[in-house]
Amino acid sequence: MTRVLLVDCLARGKGERKATLDVVGVGPRSISGVLEREGIDVRIYVFEELASNPAVMLDYDVLMVSAMSSDKGCATRTLRYWREYGSGPAIIGGPISEEYSLLLDKGFDLIVVGEGEKVVKALLDAGLRDGVLPSIHELNLIVGLAYKVNDKIVFTGRAPRLTRSELDFFKPSTKRITDYPHYWGLRVYVEVVRGCSNFIRPRMKLANGVKCIDCDLCRQGTLEQRLYCPVNIPPGCGYCSVPALYGPPRSRSINSIYDEVKELVDIGVTRIVLSAPDFLDYGRDWLVEPLPLTNPREPPPNTKAIEKLLNKLWSIPEISSGEVVVMIENIKANLVDEEVARLLGEFLKDTPVHIGCETGSEKHAIDIGRPNTPEECIKAVELLARHGLRPYVYFIHGLPGQTIDTAIDTVNVMEKVFEKGAEKITVYRFTPLPGTAFEGFPPGLPSIKDPASRLIDEKAVELNRDYKKKMLGRKLEVIVVGRKRSDGIAYPVKHGPVVVISGGSIYYGYRVLVEVVDVVSDRLVRGKIKRVLKKVKR
Ligand code: SF4
Repeated sequence: MTRVLLVDCLARGKGERKATLDVVGVGPRSISGVLEREGIDVRIYVFEELASNPAVMLDYDVLMVSAMSSDKGCATRTLRYWREYGSGPAIIGGPISEEYSLLLDKGFDLIVVGEGEKVVKALLDAGLRDGVLPSIHELNLIVGLAYKVNDKIVFTGRAPRLTRSELDFFKPSTKRITDYPHYWGLRVYVEVVRGCSNFIRPRMKLANGVKCIDCDLCRQGTLEQRLYCPVNIPPGCGYCSVPALYGPPRSRSINSIYDEVKELVDIGVTRIVLSAPDFLDYGRDWLVEPLPLTNPREPPPNTKAIEKLLNKLWSIPEISSGEVVVMIENIKANLVDEEVARLLGEFLKDTPVHIGCETGSEKHAIDIGRPNTPEECIKAVELLARHGLRPYVYFIHGLPGQTIDTAIDTVNVMEKVFEKGAEKITVYRFTPLPGTAFEGFPPGLPSIKDPASRLIDEKAVELNRDYKKKMLGRKLEVIVVGRKRSDGIAYPVKHGPVVVISGGSIYYGYRVLVEVVDVVSDRLVRGKIKRVLKKVKR
């Protein structure tokens, strides 16, 4: 039987994860689900585990790699190992596939461009099931591929997006979660919505000279009109590739999400994140279908659908008892009102919620294609914090259009969201992504080299220092997932900084209560054991 090795390079950059250490992304389990359904033997390896023993590749017939644009180094190293130890086709997919010509030059045989499930199924039917590359003729018939023929690149077009019912049909593998070391302590992402509703576009002049002609279609047009821009500016915030890559949101059915979550809980997963570019888009697409949900502001959230989903998940005893923690990922500030905040607070109290604000200048927000204003971000933080959630707010420095004035506005908004109850501010440096409106702009300078960026970065450090102070003395439930000499390395059950527990290595595999006694950084604190709660390792 053909054996597929699926390597998870997501967020691993050149091969090492520096942040989001405890996240298990959605892609590898989704593709494993397709392979399992077709009777193919698949095993997921995280890159670091593979790198410690690449000879495991000898046992496999096909290599598949899942990666983002920032993971080129990791993907290339995986391919190098494959050429040394493995034999057979090397295939790569995920957001990295936008750069398919570069990946083909690196030596991958096939690039899956766009949503992978149907393309992988078609590849299996065309011959990959036997561990060999399908013929050029067969490849040519499959939309969603890039490959080389006699040194010339062939691109068959982006894979058609899955419909809502197809998303439910292609069930992600739950069995393969056990391939992740310490899966019982990791944040396992379960996709609930694919795609984003922000089809507003940046108004500023782009690097290629194109500028919005103010036809207003993407702001005031019908849902269908918003799909197209007369001057071909890609949809969404200029720095984000989700709308261009994945299109408008499609929500999975409550039953399919429930089944996946239930199976993961039965296998021993204890931390689940309901993953979506905007959780508040959940079921909002159902309110407008068959039209595409391309308006990020109207209609308001489908609170009935969200409540039904959460109620169904809370019917799982381990979730309602708190033994398993469910969290959500991102939300758009403009969709938060009192009713939404109350509903989220009812189920998700004390868990984080991520809000992108990105810039504090209203004009800059419009220029870069944001769906909401900084004022709306401040209001959303206040409402969510009042209802018991822990808002984490995101900003970006080095964005096109950034000036000292926009940076001053940003710093002011950072202070305000902090006053209103944000727990943490996260600042990223702008990186242009392929397929986005900001593709041709240079990356943001390191903050020390740009006075405006430095203002933003330094303010985040200052405010997060308060966050650190707030952490001192706090009691946290954590899961000990690693050992460093006699210390235990643990993740907070409800998310937060990594906790080092002095002498805690003996609690490996246990959920314990610790008191924070020292704050090393906003990503690392030291904890003292207060109580051992239960064994979670299977
Ligand atoms: S970005 Fe395109 S669709 Fe939107 S207003 Fe400008 S020209 Fe019209």
